[in-house]
Amino acid sequence: HRRKTLSITTEFACSTKAVAEVEGSDLQAPLADGSTTRYVNFDYAASAPALRSAVTRIQELLPTYSSVHRGAGYASQVTTQAYEDARAVVTEFVGAADDQCLVFTRNTTDSLNLLAGCVPGPVVVLDIEHHSNLLPWKRSHVVQAADSIGETIARVDIELQRTGAALLAVTGASNVTGEILPIRRLSDLAHSRGARIVVDGAQLVPHRRVSLAADGIDYLAFSGHKVYAPFGAGVLIGRRDWLDAAPAYLAGGGAVRNVAVDRTEWAPAPARHEGGSPNVLGAAALAAACQEIESLGDAAAQHEAVLTEQLRWGLTDIDGVEVLKIFHDISDAVGVVSFVVEGHRAADVARYLSTEHGIGVRDGRFCAHPLLDRLGHGDGAVRASLGLGSSSADVEALLSAVAQYLTR
Ligand code: PLP
Repeated sequence: HRRKTLSITTEFACSTKAVAEVEGSDLQAPLADGSTTRYVNFDYAASAPALRSAVTRIQELLPTYSSVHRGAGYASQVTTQAYEDARAVVTEFVGAADDQCLVFTRNTTDSLNLLAGCVPGPVVVLDIEHHSNLLPWKRSHVVQAADSIGETIARVDIELQRTGAALLAVTGASNVTGEILPIRRLSDLAHSRGARIVVDGAQLVPHRRVSLAADGIDYLAFSGHKVYAPFGAGVLIGRRDWLDAAPAYLAGGGAVRNVAVDRTEWAPAPARHEGGSPNVLGAAALAAACQEIESLGDAAAQHEAVLTEQLRWGLTDIDGVEVLKIFHDISDAVGVVSFVVEGHRAADVARYLSTEHGIGVRDGRFCAHPLLDRLGHGDGAVRASLGLGSSSADVEALLSAVAQYLTR
């Protein structure tokens, strides 16, 4: 077992550095021999470390932290303003159209469950999805993906027509392989069959600019903790009519206009689905992170493209390592790479990387059991995922650690 060619990695050893400051970049991790080493974070896809701007925003707001939408006091007014400003910033960040409104939730799972209560008909979904985009749908039809995205889209088309679906639910990027789905093609298809589309943006939004208007997306869900604001807020944004027609997601204070003992007049969205006191600091941190990502412009995607290439090809280059892939005709991917080391359990590889090298990866089935089964790795894989705080030195550390694992 060895790395066949070093050319790819030396080519990239052009020292691509982090493009943004993230918390924890100087963290020390304990090793098995009792020493410590710099923690190398390859678990961005699970939860990304906080951007400094998100942390700063939280610190700014703490002194005036109060309840929103209710108090006449100064602190309450500042807090209400911060919450609504956050809504406006994120709405703009994802290029929402005029008839779309943003509901703050807890995370992507929460957002998709909320939407599941609003859909007025069957839902078509692929078997490659994260469980959070499979299990919430009540009347769902699961389409088995083919090895090519072209054939998969043809199958989706048949199912949309057969079921008269109201909604097509797809991920923007796979949380297992990082592959980016052709959203515009899928939204055009859904619309041509009289359906709407929801994009699970949990893995896409942290890495690529998304525009609901330009991409024809009716609904988008994503999580603050994956866009560098790990403070417990999420987003569902989309067309208002379904949101206004559905029962309140959480019945209670804030979701209503008027309540009499025998009659309740519910508020329209977003308030309708934001019952109870919201996570104001989480929403504000999320918005601050979006602003920082926006300010990085193309540099963020370029940075990740270089490192992802280095990671993917570096792993492919190691004898005994298989990199997972769903579609042979998709080449665009975010910085999420899953692999298996032949003859070795994923958990053993992950433990070795952590205890011998201070490298944090994830192992298991990544809340996508049907996909792992389909790929022939139902017993699990290792996932390395990167982001704005990653560097080519990090990637090199991972590649050489995996190579060393095989030569122990
Ligand atoms: N969808 C995808 C593609 C994900 O990767 C994840 C999280 O890993 C989720 C949904 C669920 O996100 P959350 O746990 O923030 O609700």
